[in-house]
Amino acid sequence: MALIVQKYGGTSVGNPERIKNVARRVAKFHAQGHQVVVVVSAMSGETNRLIALAKEISAEPDPRELDQVCATGEQVTIGLLSMALKEIGLPARSYTGGQVKVLTDSVFTKARILSIDDANLRLDLDAGMVVVVAGFQGVDADGNITTLGRGGSDTSAVALAAALKADECQIYTDVDGVYTADPRIVPEARKLDAITFEEMLEMASLGSKVLQIRSVEFAGKYKVKLRVLSSFEDEGEGTLITAEEESNMEQPIISGIAHNRDEAKLTMLGVPDEPGIAYRILSAIAEANIDVDIIVQNVGHDGSTDLSFTVNRGDFAKAQGILEKVKTELGARQVAGDNRICKVSAVGVGMRSHPGVASKMFKALADEGINIQMISTSEIKISVIIEEKYLELAARVLHNTFGLDQAV
Ligand code: ASP
Ligand code: MG
Repeated sequence: MALIVQKYGGTSVGNPERIKNVARRVAKFHAQGHQVVVVVSAMSGETNRLIALAKEISAEPDPRELDQVCATGEQVTIGLLSMALKEIGLPARSYTGGQVKVLTDSVFTKARILSIDDANLRLDLDAGMVVVVAGFQGVDADGNITTLGRGGSDTSAVALAAALKADECQIYTDVDGVYTADPRIVPEARKLDAITFEEMLEMASLGSKVLQIRSVEFAGKYKVKLRVLSSFEDEGEGTLITAEEESNMEQPIISGIAHNRDEAKLTMLGVPDEPGIAYRILSAIAEANIDVDIIVQNVGHDGSTDLSFTVNRGDFAKAQGILEKVKTELGARQVAGDNRICKVSAVGVGMRSHPGVASKMFKALADEGINIQMISTSEIKISVIIEEKYLELAARVLHNTFGLDQAV
């Protein structure tokens, strides 16, 4: 007998028929003798609908009240799923985040989980019940309802699995696992049987949308065995996400190719090459709450230098405006920008023990005539910024170059 936490995303509970299907799947595990905790999202489109509704009332909704509104989406699903379970003869009980007591901080709309009280859930489980918990929400020390940020039910599920020391946390979604690349861009992409937390984290940060980044961080920290599976297929093992030391397979050098279109590049040309310049430029950007990703400073000559960095495309215009102001203050020559760029990355823990990955990657891009504008590396990933029009080509070429097209 195992304790399993299963999380079903919005599309998996998108209508009553699908909710009944989820109930049948849960019943299957229950019948095998497992204890099952189910975490659900709002029905697909519901959170967007609620946010849009709030924005019709207020251009910038009060965060506490917005959480009050958004948390209702998940509350509907837990009630409906519990009813569906009872309809097929399974004892079930639903809980909002506050009823479990998923305690969070008070940062409305992006709260962090501080602790989870598992006492009631354990009592129900020991009594043979299925427990259904609303994802994405919690309660702060003052009893205010909070939400965990978009996609937050993944994190709810992992946090519950950690608190209950579950044997496995299964994330059911509309894809059947984690792929070597986005199959819409790289048709040869294959489903991975397993991937490490670290790799998954890089993939998620670099643009893969399968799991919320924070849920992967959480799973890695608390060593929660995570599995991504399709809720629309009955067979299949999905993709297992585990700690590197636990995956006893031979590690491929590269596990996946990630991409992100949501990129823009800004350059400040001809800034005086003196201490404090990078600070002056980037602190102005940070003050505006704009995330900076890759930063490159040229080697200075004639007393001046250039500084380039990337931001999310949605922040491009704002960042440009800020740089124009800073330019005047610093006496820099020019601000240049480009929002037709993208980032393509190769990720793999095997990179640590295999030199030459970067040169292989750069050669493959050069052979296709793709110019690399910026490079950024970590121990287990290499990212390049290139022109957006080359995104598909670059992803396919790299997928092939690192042998990901072939089954292992
Ligand atoms: N319903 C929330 C959202 O759409 C949380 C989730 O689905 O994970 O972001
Ligand atoms: Mg989701």
